[in-house]
Amino acid sequence: MSTLPNCPKCSSEYTYEDGTMYVCPECAHEWGKDAAAESADNNRVVRDAYGNVLNDGDTVTVIKDLKIKGSSAVVKVGTKARNIRLVEGDHDIDCKIDGIGAMQLKSEFVKKA
Ligand SMILES: [Zn+2]
Repeated sequence: MSTLPNCPKCSSEYTYEDGTMYVCPECAHEWGKDAAAESADNNRVVRDAYGNVLNDGDTVTVIKDLKIKGSSAVVKVGTKARNIRLVEGDHDIDCKIDGIGAMQLKSEFVKKA
């Protein structure tokens, strides 16, 4: 049996293989085996709404009121998200917002602070 990688999102050890994907049962994150192998030196560039390159650890400001799925809370324009983490997908920024908690944002709706 091969050693499975920890979940890149929540670091869970309880990942399992599903076809060509790895799956994390704790946060429901799925990622491709190929992507996992390449992630060390991927040079994908994520830019904010104004074309500034974003990096892990940056602070960004939300430039548009954003409704949070499944809740009545709204992230207001000007809200700061600190220590972002770039991730794959439609919502390509993982972050924590004071008073709201962990959430994902789209890079097109933020500005580098
Ligand atoms: Zn996970």
